[in-house]
Parts: sequence; C-alpha cells; structure tokens
Amino acid sequence: MVTTGVVLVLSAIAHSKPLFQSTPLRQKHPYKGVISWHTTRVICSIFCPCGKYYIGKTTHSLKVHKAEHRSSVRCKNLIYPVAAHFAEAAHSTSSLRYIGIEKVAHLRRGGDFNKLLLKREAFWIYSLNTLAPNGLKIDFDLRHFL
Ligand SMILES: [Zn+2]
Repeated sequence: MVTTGVVLVLSAIAHSKPLFQSTPLRQKHPYKGVISWHTTRVICSIFCPCGKYYIGKTTHSLKVHKAEHRSSVRCKNLIYPVAAHFAEAAHSTSSLRYIGIEKVAHLRRGGDFNKLLLKREAFWIYSLNTLAPNGLKIDFDLRHFL
C-alpha cells in the first residue's frame, strides 16, 4: 500500500490551531473554522490511496456531501472525476478519505456567497495543486472571477 498522499492531522506544537498537511507538497495549513459533519458551507478535501486530492465546495452539510461522493464512487458514476479515478485505479469505496478544511463565513455586508465559495475553492485547488494530472480536479472555470 502506498502511503504518500495521506493527509495528516497534526497536533500543533508551534501553533494553537490544529494543522493538516498535504503530503505531496509537504505544506502545513491550519483548519479554518470549527468543522463537524453537520457544518455547512465548507471547502472539503477528498483523497485516495495513491495520494491524489480533490478539492470541492458544498453548501450542504459535510456529511451529505461525503455521502454523495461515496455514492458516486460505489455506483461508478464516471461523470464525476473522483468516481472515475476510483474506478480506474480500482480503489475501494472504503478507501475514500474526506475532510473539511475551511468553514466559509458569510459575508458581513451581503454579496455573492457562491462567488466567495468558488474563490475559496480556487485558493485551495491552487494551494494544494489538485488540478489534474497532479490531483483529481479535471477543470476549474475561472469565468466566475472575471
Ligand atoms: Zn488514487
């Protein structure tokens, strides 16, 4: 079993916040916000046994979003990049790992919250280098930022 790509939750020694580490880049990032399975408006990271990552966003709870991804993997719904990779690499559904990495706060003065979610998703996609072929994100539409 390949162990690279495993996201480690580290007890912060030098920081007061817990950190997660994306092993391919060896960078440590603090979790942003308190995140549970019932938290909504979250940027999440999905990763597989061969070390590839997928960054996504959801306005649903993290639990619902995880169930949707597990279902697409289990049903081999190949229109979804995570499911397509799991089918191609013969990963089992139980090997899918999933964490919330940022709780996106509402805008104080209103505005387009979906655009904010897309911006935070883009930040993590580029910070963790999760666009294909390094990661599982096939494409990302930058028209939202024009
Ligand atoms: Zn994989």
